[in-house]
Amino acid sequence: MKICLETIEEISRWLRATGKEAEELRRQAHETKLRTVGGKVYLRGLIEFSNICRKNCFYCGIRCGNAAVNRYTLSRQEVLSSARFACREGFGSVVIQAGERSDEAFVSEIEALVEAMMQESHGQLGITLSLGEQTPRTYARWKKAGALRYLLRIETSDAGLYAGLHPSDHSFHQRLSCISSLRELGYQVGSGIMIGLPGQSVEQVAADLLFFKAMDLDMVGMGPYIEHRQTPLWAQRHKVPSLQERYDLSLNAWAVLRLLMPDINIAASTAIGSISPKGRQEVLYTAANVIMPNLTPYTRRKEYFLYENKICLKESHEDSKANIERLILEAGGEPGYFEQGNSLHFFYKTQK
Ligand code: SAH
Ligand code: SF4
Repeated sequence: MKICLETIEEISRWLRATGKEAEELRRQAHETKLRTVGGKVYLRGLIEFSNICRKNCFYCGIRCGNAAVNRYTLSRQEVLSSARFACREGFGSVVIQAGERSDEAFVSEIEALVEAMMQESHGQLGITLSLGEQTPRTYARWKKAGALRYLLRIETSDAGLYAGLHPSDHSFHQRLSCISSLRELGYQVGSGIMIGLPGQSVEQVAADLLFFKAMDLDMVGMGPYIEHRQTPLWAQRHKVPSLQERYDLSLNAWAVLRLLMPDINIAASTAIGSISPKGRQEVLYTAANVIMPNLTPYTRRKEYFLYENKICLKESHEDSKANIERLILEAGGEPGYFEQGNSLHFFYKTQK
């Protein structure tokens, strides 16, 4: 069956696919994935560096307006010890993620951490940052220190929907301009969205997927929106599709994404695993080639609580590793140990 994915209408039709049609969509995505990026799944050890955030996004559990959060920042030793674990176990890469801060103390601490990880691993560790909106100067400092990739989700490519999910001092255009700066500085650039947001239509998700293509992203990290009680969006929970609907829509979106952008890196997000025990396996089978085992010290994990029922809150690093390996094998993949697993798309672009 020929799957046409050129217009919002065509993509929306496939995003709504059920039964045999959904199976066919996912089968074609799986085959495309094997043909392009192959069966390897790359590991990125996720280190949730701090839950202190100056922003107040309406969907997020660690927003600055949530007074119930016990705020923490990991020490340099804690981060380095997680990074050493990642190196020892052959994870190849780490992701440093945190709430957004832009003060000099924060910027220089990240710079020092990146430098230390590069030095200790003799430049072998692929470092991804996911630290929100920063100035081009800050992005340049972190790049110079050794960071390879940056993840900044656009959350939705619809400026109107974006405005409804954020306070008025958060800017959609600023976020777009950050993505452009990252590109200019030579990062491998990743973005993404949340799927199943209150008030979000299937057509808007289709437009997001076309937006990723138009932005020529190297990596995409997307996943279902999950409610959090201590956020303003909780009041709109009646407008959110059921967990099953969000799951089906997300899986179709992953399949469409792989067909639209065959050679990019796609992550199987923690959020899909949080709404279904087999979620990450299915996404890995269908479309994804990257997974992010949690390497945050487990005494802190419950405090990086972006949404309800987040998984991996109690496991030690070793448990996470064993689970992740089992999960990759169950999805028919092969763990890409001791490899950075850089975006093929980025590689082809920069070879031209
Ligand atoms: N502060 C940085 C990185 C941490 S937040 C930033 O905002 O870019 C990382 C991602 O978590 C966000 O981009 C958002 O897409 C996701 N997230 C936040 N709240 C969520 C929720 N309730 N459900 C699903 N994903 C959520
Ligand atoms: Fe802060 Fe990121 Fe959460 Fe927004 S999504 S409140 S920037 S941690």
